Amino acid sequence: MTDIASRLDAVKRDIERLAALAAPAEAEEAHGMVSALQAELDDLMREASALPSEHTLSDLPHAPRHEELRCPICSLRSFIYRRGTLRRSNETDSGFEALFHCRSCGHEAWHETR
Ligand SMILES: [Zn+2]
Repeated sequence: MTDIASRLDAVKRDIERLAALAAPAEAEEAHGMVSALQAELDDLMREASALPSEHTLSDLPHAPRHEELRCPICSLRSFIYRRGTLRRSNETDSGFEALFHCRSCGHEAWHETR
């Protein structure tokens, strides 16, 4: 996380430098945008810190074996795994499930994964 924090600081400095290039007439607006962008970056940093570390996720499969399934609604093979949604489940045989979204009809549902 230290690495991310230092990169984030570099981005913040660049944003300030960029704002300094704004014409005098736009300086106030640019300054407001700097504050907004930096607050947004701080929020992102807080959220990133709150995520479970890589270590606790290490025994989860990286991705489902099949990322494309047949949609239970429209039966087209366009039921796509939504990245990052893989999680444990007590209700599936494999012990895992992930959120799938159909590119064709828009159906979305949790589905057992292995
Ligand atoms: Zn569908």
